[in-house]
Amino acid sequence: MGRAAVMTAAKKNLEIRDYPLPKVGHGCMLVRITCCTICGSDLHSWLGHRKAPIPIILGHEIVGEIVELGEGITHDSGDQPLKIGDRITWTIMDNCGKCYYCREKGLPMKCRYLKKYGHDSCQDPPHFVGGFAEYCYITPGTCIIKTPENLTDEEVAPANCGLATAISGWEAAGIRPFENVLIQGAGALGFYAASLAKYYGCKRIIVTDVLDHRLELIKEFGATDTINVRGMEDVEIAQAVFNLTDGFGVDAAMEVAGVPEIIPAGLKCLRIGGRYVEIGCVFHGAHFTYDVGDIVFRLLTIKGVHNYDTKHLQQGIDFLAQTKDIFPFNKLVTHKYSLDQINQALKVAQAGEAIRVAIFP
Ligand SMILES: [Zn+2]
Ligand SMILES: [Zn+2]
Repeated sequence: MGRAAVMTAAKKNLEIRDYPLPKVGHGCMLVRITCCTICGSDLHSWLGHRKAPIPIILGHEIVGEIVELGEGITHDSGDQPLKIGDRITWTIMDNCGKCYYCREKGLPMKCRYLKKYGHDSCQDPPHFVGGFAEYCYITPGTCIIKTPENLTDEEVAPANCGLATAISGWEAAGIRPFENVLIQGAGALGFYAASLAKYYGCKRIIVTDVLDHRLELIKEFGATDTINVRGMEDVEIAQAVFNLTDGFGVDAAMEVAGVPEIIPAGLKCLRIGGRYVEIGCVFHGAHFTYDVGDIVFRLLTIKGVHNYDTKHLQQGIDFLAQTKDIFPFNKLVTHKYSLDQINQALKVAQAGEAIRVAIFP
């Protein structure tokens, strides 16, 4: 048997339940979870902003140790040999690799037969399909990544969503060295986006948020300029960004706050030919109003990015291992709780003071 924190209704306290451990099938594995961080989308599900099947074990930013390896698995997706006791992380999704979206469109996160950790019901065996639990059952369509020893559990866990998504976002924006970028939102994704932009060689890395302590900390993650936009009009924000970029605006911008009202300001900050990546609004009903004439005349591009591909998670782990002495990733997990304290942890994460809250089951 193993324990799991189960959500039975939106906004209600999660319940700790015991489930029998699954029998490990061919191509599968059982992992003992060592850490799972709370992502913004876990909060959206918990608060009922988006539909979740009930009962559910939330949590998808997971790291753990292999306790049982099914037949047929010998190596991870980075071609490293796997054995019991290895610490791994894995893609948020299990995808088939052969449907139209997987094969033809290169969109594994939209697989016809998609399963996502922390997103599916835990009613039936194998039960352990989410991160707020002692165990997780990994199925064959999941890409496994063995994690380097120089990283701690809490440094690795948010890679599997936050960091991989930020990498996917900048790839969609096609940022290049010496470009100027804007990041709207100094949450975990913003911290990763800033450090990546720095590492990629961007010039001005401008970050906006409404919380000063986050804007202060993000300077350690490559931000060259920060703007507290509380109470500012869109034109004032754009003016401030134009002033920082020789009057041109930024080449690319990313929205990672999950606030649709800030998208117009972000679009206004773009240079002619600028690219805008929308990541934060992972819920429906996120409307904004904008002058389409501006998009046409200034040849702007808007792209939506949801989740990521396996290569982005691998790049994320490699990035952490290679830059952990440059950027203080250990400062991103600001609060730590046990599985029994999950409800307190969710409340702290919701309050917005924490950057990432970690559960150590
Ligand atoms: Zn997430
Ligand atoms: Zn597929």
